[in-house]
Amino acid sequence: METLGILGGGQLARMLVLAGAPLGVRFRIVDKVADACAGQLAPLSTAGWDDVEKLETFAREIDAATFDFENVPAATAEWLSARTRVAPNALSLATAQDRVLEKTLFRECGLPTAEFADIATRADLDAALARVGAPAILKTRREGYDGKGQFRIRTLADADAAWQALGAQAEARGLILENFVAFDFEASVVAVRAADGEFRAWPVTRNWHVDGILSASLAPAPRGASIDKTAFAHARAIAEKLGYVGVFALELFVKGGELLGNEMAPRVHNSGHWTIEGAVTSQFENHVRAVLGMPLGDTSARFPSCMLNWIGELPDRDKLLAVPGAHWHDYGKSPRVGRKVGHATVCAPDAATLARRLQRLGDTLGRAAQVQPVIDALKAVR
Ligand code: AMP
Repeated sequence: METLGILGGGQLARMLVLAGAPLGVRFRIVDKVADACAGQLAPLSTAGWDDVEKLETFAREIDAATFDFENVPAATAEWLSARTRVAPNALSLATAQDRVLEKTLFRECGLPTAEFADIATRADLDAALARVGAPAILKTRREGYDGKGQFRIRTLADADAAWQALGAQAEARGLILENFVAFDFEASVVAVRAADGEFRAWPVTRNWHVDGILSASLAPAPRGASIDKTAFAHARAIAEKLGYVGVFALELFVKGGELLGNEMAPRVHNSGHWTIEGAVTSQFENHVRAVLGMPLGDTSARFPSCMLNWIGELPDRDKLLAVPGAHWHDYGKSPRVGRKVGHATVCAPDAATLARRLQRLGDTLGRAAQVQPVIDALKAVR
């Protein structure tokens, strides 16, 4: 029986534990905080990412290590890989942690991106704005997530305000300016690569964000089949270039049938949560399989599925469970503004039934605004 170590003990680790248990896998988790929610399901020890003594003990207790948190320093992954099998590798983490390296890699692999420029000084910002134009977005290169560390520049006159908001972070985190993409919709491809190079991807998922945080995902994306092949080819090229092992997500902007790469997550991803009930094999199970060298499972969708994120607090569980095809996921976290505390996935035999179920969910849970764009997208293809 193998023991898989996870660095980071949030909801992703928790769902990896839930998926790995039936495979006979045991888990050990390390997190900076003692009350990380995966600790409710598997032994958790607390350590900083540079706590050599505690990480030595952790490494001795496990057969392989993986991540729930993408900002574990690449140096920690490197150090750990001298002691145990680590997947994904340090190069993948380092690349995905830095928006400039990430977009440069996408372009090298033939995936177009928004125009971008690396910004170190105020003068760089002015020069980049002159080239990229407005609207644009100034973001931190590193350690930004869920729309944090971003400033939208609507007109060139916003440059001062943008620098005021983020200029102080230029030295520690770096900055990137990107032109604003007027996309038709956002999508992601969640894929898995095994150590022997076998590659599989789940159908492309359509995503909706509110205030930079994922609100809803619909899979398979309506009319997504037309972009699946291209998206899979890009994901595969990127994974091969990095020597990637495990599940990752590639976030895309879709505009007029063209795909632009936004970012990659070197881990299981929120837009792949629907695979727990909606696919033959979930992203969590396939990640465990890939990292421990088991054969990969089928990534086909079983049903049209919609995942809804619960941000800040959970709605009424029993009202949700009364909706046919609805599945509840409580991460065991205390409520807090902006925090992902749970999600639900609604499955249905066909798109029309899924739209009806979402309508009922929206009405009974007071979540009409959250489900409406998904219902509109489902109706648009009929
Ligand atoms: P990110 O942290 O890069 O994923 O950005 C969070 C969200 O902001 C994305 O999901 C988009 O909705 C939006 N966004 C980020 N970058 C751009 C861009 N260059 N053009 C348009 N929208 C963007």
